Amino acid sequence: MVEIVAITNQKGGVGKTTTSVNLAASLAATHKRVLMIDLDPQGNATMGSGINKMQISNSVYDFLVEEQELTSVVQDTEYGYQVMPANGDLTAAEVKLLEEIGREQKLQRLLAQCDDNFDYILIDCPPSLNMLTVNALTAANSVVIPIQCEYYALEGLAALLTTVEKIKQFVNPKLRVEGLLRTMFDPRNSLSNEVSKHLLGRFPEWVFRTVIPRNVRLAEAPSHGMPVLHYDKRSRGAVAYLALAGELLRREEQRKAAMAPVALEESE
Ligand code: ATP
Ligand code: MG
Repeated sequence: MVEIVAITNQKGGVGKTTTSVNLAASLAATHKRVLMIDLDPQGNATMGSGINKMQISNSVYDFLVEEQELTSVVQDTEYGYQVMPANGDLTAAEVKLLEEIGREQKLQRLLAQCDDNFDYILIDCPPSLNMLTVNALTAANSVVIPIQCEYYALEGLAALLTTVEKIKQFVNPKLRVEGLLRTMFDPRNSLSNEVSKHLLGRFPEWVFRTVIPRNVRLAEAPSHGMPVLHYDKRSRGAVAYLALAGELLRREEQRKAAMAPVALEESE
């Protein structure tokens, strides 16, 4: 079964795209079959994966609005994962979706036809709670919420969690919060430590143990169109995102094991 992960936070610049690109590359490095969907008209995840958003013939727009085949929209990267790229055209998709019946479920419906080809589908969401984000949350099994450890970090988190809860209740009962990811963490900054402590106290089961440090290599890699693992594999950023992939895989194994006992007893 494919695991569809929406990487989301309506707050801008918190590390959604950095997490999408680098988690995709790190999961691919463990031989998982990964598709990353760039659901943001900014197209940063596309560019950060080495694909020029100005030179793509098909994009998420063609998949979501024109209902083109997944295979004609998805592109290979040099980093072991595939990308459904985006550019400014995607802005029009939001408007067109609003006119459709079953608009919240469109991405879910289209992905259901082709999800056997992947172990993970990661969706990089735009910085708003718009119809594209609602489509991502409706298609997803789980949500990863990057949180920058700074003063206004928790602003908007309650609204996001309420949206997740509503989508779970009304359209997507399988949705769960996989985790809150602390990003751009600076241990010398007392505010970073305070926010981190607060998150651990408030959401102990959700906070990933892996912390993403503030690391200049992570900021440089996208300008070379590369995930950090391929730009500088020894950097702290690369090591952290590999650890995050490991933590995600372990959690998945634990979930499977928790569901397995009945089957085991039966076979004894
Ligand atoms: P948006 O809301 O605009 O989509 P975002 O949430 O996707 O933004 P990113 O684009 O991933 O955020 O990150 C914002 C900026 O911070 C980028 O310039 C990125 O390179 C940089 N950045 C992200 N994570 C780190 C990090 N751990 N260390 C240093 N720089 C980082
Ligand atoms: Mg982004």
